[in-house]
Amino acid sequence: MTYPDNILYQVTKPARYTGGEWNSIVKGWDKTYIKIALSYPDVYEIGMSNMALPILYELLNSQPDVLAERVYAPWVDMEAILRARGIPLASLESKHPLKDFDIIGFSLGYELTYTNVLNMLHLAQIPVLAAERDDSHPIVIAGGTCALNPEPMADFIDFFVIGDGEEALPELLDCFRDWKGKAAPKQQLFQQVANIPGIYVPSLYQVEYQAAGLFKSITPTVPQAKPSIQRRIVNKLPPPVTKPVVPYIEVVHDRGAIEIQRGCSRGCRFCQAGIIYRPVRERSQSEVIQGVGEIITNCGYNEVSLVSLCTNDYPDIDKLVANLIHRYQEYNLTLSLPSLRTDSSSVSLVASLPSHRKTGLTFAPEAGSQRLRRTINKYVTEDEILQTAAAAFNKGWSSFKLYFMLGLPNETLDDVQEIIQLVDKICSLGRKAKGQRPQLRVSVSTFVPKPHTPFQWVVQANQAELDAKHELLKQGLRRTRSRLSWPDPKVSLLEAVLSRGDRRLGKVIYRAWQLGSTFDAWDERFNYENWLRAFAETGLEPDFYAQRERPLDEPLPWAHIDVGVTMAFLKQECQRALDGRETPDCRNKACNACGLEHWQPQCQQKLQRLS
Ligand code: SF4
Repeated sequence: MTYPDNILYQVTKPARYTGGEWNSIVKGWDKTYIKIALSYPDVYEIGMSNMALPILYELLNSQPDVLAERVYAPWVDMEAILRARGIPLASLESKHPLKDFDIIGFSLGYELTYTNVLNMLHLAQIPVLAAERDDSHPIVIAGGTCALNPEPMADFIDFFVIGDGEEALPELLDCFRDWKGKAAPKQQLFQQVANIPGIYVPSLYQVEYQAAGLFKSITPTVPQAKPSIQRRIVNKLPPPVTKPVVPYIEVVHDRGAIEIQRGCSRGCRFCQAGIIYRPVRERSQSEVIQGVGEIITNCGYNEVSLVSLCTNDYPDIDKLVANLIHRYQEYNLTLSLPSLRTDSSSVSLVASLPSHRKTGLTFAPEAGSQRLRRTINKYVTEDEILQTAAAAFNKGWSSFKLYFMLGLPNETLDDVQEIIQLVDKICSLGRKAKGQRPQLRVSVSTFVPKPHTPFQWVVQANQAELDAKHELLKQGLRRTRSRLSWPDPKVSLLEAVLSRGDRRLGKVIYRAWQLGSTFDAWDERFNYENWLRAFAETGLEPDFYAQRERPLDEPLPWAHIDVGVTMAFLKQECQRALDGRETPDCRNKACNACGLEHWQPQCQQKLQRLS
């Protein structure tokens, strides 16, 4: 089945739905035993920029009896046509309806895509609620960062893959092959996969709440289901994806990408990625250099991004960059270095790139005051920030972007005032170096407390507090003439609710979707009224989830997901934050005993080296 041309003429960006891109893999449908639809609950341009899907696409398609095809959320114009004509949502490669696949796997990277998952299932003519799907329907699974608190989506997903998919998927496929061969009921498969470490089957657990409405416990209902689900972690990064699908239209990250390391050791206390991707695993320089060459050859890209949570923490990054530029100079290679630390070595690094790359620089002090930076464990001093800015101006930049967060724990109006003073000082440095006012863009996000972080217990700032701080910032930054951008705090409130929610939130998500909410991450589509109505109709309060300080001993709905970092370490970090004490980076200093030392070889070796 293909979407008829007369549909594609009527929608924006029809190439979102045509498939047939360079390097896409089309296997014989009838000859392949297991069929998997890799689904991304946002539009094509965003989904095609995701780093995880190409890894899974390559891994699954490398198995002779498995085919993996892609599907992205159709934009509202396409959705309207599909619904009007009763055409089911189909994959990009073979154009088969999703309901013909064995497994539909969603990548959940952002809570505000949850309604799109429901919408895609509905468009695929598959019951949205797991309890309403029978043995004739595909298995619906999900992974990604949001799976580390799976409860809000538990009503819709048959099982979750927790952690690195490269580790768990081969075992999952073995189990699926065996089950499919027997044509047994789905329940049998669910019980078998519950035995695989890192697989969480929510329907095999019973949730209880306390009389006051607080979450009480999640208990397995069958022996195969484990009380605690351990995150899967690959010890060594698998080979990089060097033959990814090349889109025919512009996507968000329109370049090649190679993961140079996974994980971060810095321990910023607000950062979920810094906890849930521990420990740091680096790819060797030779593998990166070879991988970049293969990407150039296989895809025709002359721009490649070196992806990492903190790119210049990669050992000898300057040598790697120099080697890559030298090795691939005939291709006029451009390197993109996202996520740079705020220090002058970052400026030197970017300055070492060929001159056509000297476009924008971005630094993230996150907080204006030293006190608050200590609270969040962002160990960069004001002197270092100013030295970084001075180095940038001296090396020729006249503009850059600064990231801050508002609403951090213990934040006062004085801390916001210090953001203004810091931007002011940077402006003065720019004026001194360049003889004119620099162009600064100040991007401010609202802090969202996330599960599995030291701030998982803290209250999120309310709208009135945020409005006052935003107003102060707006007025104060006027004299620097910097450009201030600031997302709608209601979006962050909803993100805070969904990220620290329990299973009851499934009803809210379902109702919001019924009321028409989809693409909640898109400004033009976000409808807060729908969500408020959904909360009211289901008898739940958003403030209960987002704006309530949780005692350290309160049971947490995600505590059965064991990311490897212990609750004791997170509590200790929470206390150190309140005391204004930093915890050192564990990469080159002592191990902080976050919990992974008990079961990760890298951390055990480090402990031995340092002892
Ligand atoms: S166990 Fe130690 S070395 Fe490993 S990630 Fe945790 S703090 Fe760092």
